[in-house]
Amino acid sequence: MSGSIVLALDQGTTSSRAIVFDDKGSILGSDQQEFRQHYPRPGWVEHDPRDIWETQRNTMEGALTSAGITPDQVAAIGITNQRETTLLWEASSGRPVGHAIVWQDRRTADMCRRLKNEGHEDTFNRKTGLFLDPYFSGTKIRWMMEHHDGLRGRAENGEVLFGTVDSWLVWNLTGGKVHATDITNASRTLLCNIHEGSWDDELLAILDIPRAMLPEIRSCSEVYGKVDQDLPLKGIPIAGIAGDQQAALFGQACFRPGMAKNTYGTGCFLLMQTGETAIRSGNNLLTTVAWSLNGKTNYALEGSVFIGGAVIQWLRDELQIIESAPRVNELAAGVEDNGGVYLVPAFTGLGAPHWDPYARGVMVGLTRGANRGHIARAALESIAFQSADLMEAMAGDAGMPVKELRVDGGAAASDLLMQIQTDLVGVDVVRPRVTETTAFGAACLAGLAAGVWDQPEDIERHWQPEKTFHPEQTREEAAEAMRQWRRAVERSRAWIEEDDDAS
Ligand code: ADP
Repeated sequence: MSGSIVLALDQGTTSSRAIVFDDKGSILGSDQQEFRQHYPRPGWVEHDPRDIWETQRNTMEGALTSAGITPDQVAAIGITNQRETTLLWEASSGRPVGHAIVWQDRRTADMCRRLKNEGHEDTFNRKTGLFLDPYFSGTKIRWMMEHHDGLRGRAENGEVLFGTVDSWLVWNLTGGKVHATDITNASRTLLCNIHEGSWDDELLAILDIPRAMLPEIRSCSEVYGKVDQDLPLKGIPIAGIAGDQQAALFGQACFRPGMAKNTYGTGCFLLMQTGETAIRSGNNLLTTVAWSLNGKTNYALEGSVFIGGAVIQWLRDELQIIESAPRVNELAAGVEDNGGVYLVPAFTGLGAPHWDPYARGVMVGLTRGANRGHIARAALESIAFQSADLMEAMAGDAGMPVKELRVDGGAAASDLLMQIQTDLVGVDVVRPRVTETTAFGAACLAGLAAGVWDQPEDIERHWQPEKTFHPEQTREEAAEAMRQWRRAVERSRAWIEEDDDAS
């Protein structure tokens, strides 16, 4: 066995991908396959676990072909995945019990409300850093137990197993030999005490979930098992696992407390590393495990923007004022400033730090001279304003400033958006050369365990900036812009009156 090549599996919400990295962090080849989304009822989102495994298996082979390498050149496999998505399967046959319930699925909203009314929110928040929200895995497992006959007894006997997507992949890769997860994925289930790094009996009792069905919690960088004899990559160690946002934080080399990354995709995900202290947020942010490595656990604060790049898709698909996403930049660059126009894209309510499910989108400050350029500009600015709100909340909670913001995701390609962002937050915004930070993070975690790299510092050398954006506005100008934005946010709040529309 040789090796300085690492294969990263990036199992996402709409597609499975595999990327081959060399020991300098360069991409040698990749492959991607989309799979079917199931929407059986309004608010429900499901995946067929067999689709997840099949597309992932296919892309593993496709990526090697694309890189022109053979399996024996691969030193290790790293996994990163869509978080919170919940799967159950039979231990004896590996057969899935129904479809996976995807993180976006809202079917357990009532259950969450009931648990809150019973006074459990504080217990969950203190131990898990999360809130009682359908997003997380715990209530999804409970729902499956309540809706499949006889499941509870079988789960108690260890005949039916639970896993997030990482566990499911490890189980299948090892031919059913290993039932494990990593601490970052475990930290998104509502069942894991993030301070102790273990499943919590009190939380399991509240949700009535048997311990026997849960995977073993492991670190993010160690050998979990080897690929089964019947698969083409047989014998290769699986050596790194992290949830997608945590993998991106690692892949952005945010190794010191106070370092942060923001991913500008459909939504935005901002994570700030806070060292070995788990900081409880006073601003509706989540506390989560960043990674656990060499016996040490690092934590992060996490906040998300629900409508990030999606506001640009809205300009394209609904307003139809641009033909393609990149066109937004030309349109916005055609005006001097926003002309007093503010767009608050609270299409599905507002996330942290405002947290208002009853908010809806507004556009304010329109005058007779307002044009498409101003609206495009206001849309781009809305992404940066929402991220700036999160960053300020984070810095407040952590009691330390963010020193620079590292960026990735599709909309980070916009130089104009990045300049607006650095102006608002007053620190450098840095876009790396390798923007596949999620897959790179998984590759790094695996490569560290397999000896491709000795320590995180080796990886830092391979993280290189492509472009750094420096603030050009004064802090007074930025404060004034933020003040106007917050006035606009106030206009969007508490718009929906019906309780049911906002669950
Ligand atoms: P996801 O992983 O959530 O599907 P991506 O990271 O692929 O998202 O980013 C896609 C988003 O980026 C889209 O919402 C799109 O509007 C936006 N986007 C893509 N290219 C640009 C660009 N050049 N300028 C601004 N926004 C862009």
